[in-house]
Amino acid sequence: MRYCIVGCGFSGAILARHLATNGHKVLLLDERDHLAGNCHTERDKSTGIMVHKFGPHIFHTADRRAWDYVQQFGTFRPYVNRVKAISEGRVYTLPVNLLTINQFFGKTLGPRDARQFISDKADRSIVEPRNFEEQALAMIGPELYKAFFYGYTRKQWGFEPTELPAAILKRLPVRFNYDDNYFNHPYQGMPENGYTSIIENIISVPGIEVRLGMPFEDVKETFAHVFYTGPIDRYFNFRLGRLGYRTLDFERFEDEGDYQGTAVMNYCDEKVPYTRISEHKHFAPWEQDKFSRTVYFREYSRLAEPKDVPYYPIRLVNEKRKLHEYIELAREQTGVSFLGRLGTYRYLDMDVTITEALNACDQIDKLLGSGQKI
Ligand code: UDP
Repeated sequence: MRYCIVGCGFSGAILARHLATNGHKVLLLDERDHLAGNCHTERDKSTGIMVHKFGPHIFHTADRRAWDYVQQFGTFRPYVNRVKAISEGRVYTLPVNLLTINQFFGKTLGPRDARQFISDKADRSIVEPRNFEEQALAMIGPELYKAFFYGYTRKQWGFEPTELPAAILKRLPVRFNYDDNYFNHPYQGMPENGYTSIIENIISVPGIEVRLGMPFEDVKETFAHVFYTGPIDRYFNFRLGRLGYRTLDFERFEDEGDYQGTAVMNYCDEKVPYTRISEHKHFAPWEQDKFSRTVYFREYSRLAEPKDVPYYPIRLVNEKRKLHEYIELAREQTGVSFLGRLGTYRYLDMDVTITEALNACDQIDKLLGSGQKI
């Protein structure tokens, strides 16, 4: 009997390769008509620019194993994510760093004084932040919070920051030097030929049958085991209700030359309806001179409806309760395992997805190696 893997993103591709190279037969499905899930990249038909169809994906990690793994399947070009942000008609740099602080407050502080200055603004009464807002007030104080995080977060998540988990903000560093690298990780890069080509290369081994445009529900075959990387609530036919997601809409624009001079510009004010503009030629600096035209996208976030592509899991109290009920259900099942962003309903970066998939491969080896079933 062959194995079935539902979803052709990083998790699905890595598992498929692992099983196939160990002599197993694999059916790899995706209901969408393309590989790579939300990391899918393709050349824009009109301009030729490589576009991240479902929004910017920058590869960054502290995990050497995940980094070494992806390098096998394509060249990663050096790329540092340097985000700019507009607040109240002025341009700043993010994450909050010494330049942001000095420009915003009209100062010329050095690292030590800036640390003291921000610490005086931070709310020291908050010892254990219970939500996004408390986390922000404890980290950077009210002015920077209002300017860069309050409006953007309301647009991005559709909730008051007091209702959101502190963990969302903990993704971002605050620095008291001029380092404007958005990520703290030692390894960072962009695949020269896009993410879809990386996934293609991962799965190009004998033993994998790929079927795109094929929902799992439509497959009538019995499998040795199913690895499900689609939404966990969907697997159970939403029997305990739906888990909420934010989805994104992209408004496309084309122009001559260079529109904004950088890959990502965040729009932090609430009166601007979109959260950011991504200009994709800047994600591939090594080839941007090849293109005389440019393509950019305004990104709008909203609550996902059943027909929409799910992006960000909304992990609020109700959702978490429902998730735990689904996890209980999943535990009772035999013959199926859940992986990845949708399968575990977590806000996962690509590298974490890869690390977890590689760990799953180790577990599979252990089980099969000792003669047990998965
Ligand atoms: N955020 C913000 N303003 C910004 C950038 C980020 O308020 O200019 C908040 C927002 O709530 C966002 C979170 O910080 O969801 C994490 O940001 P990140 O850039 O990691 O989001 P992603 O690129 O995954 O959408």
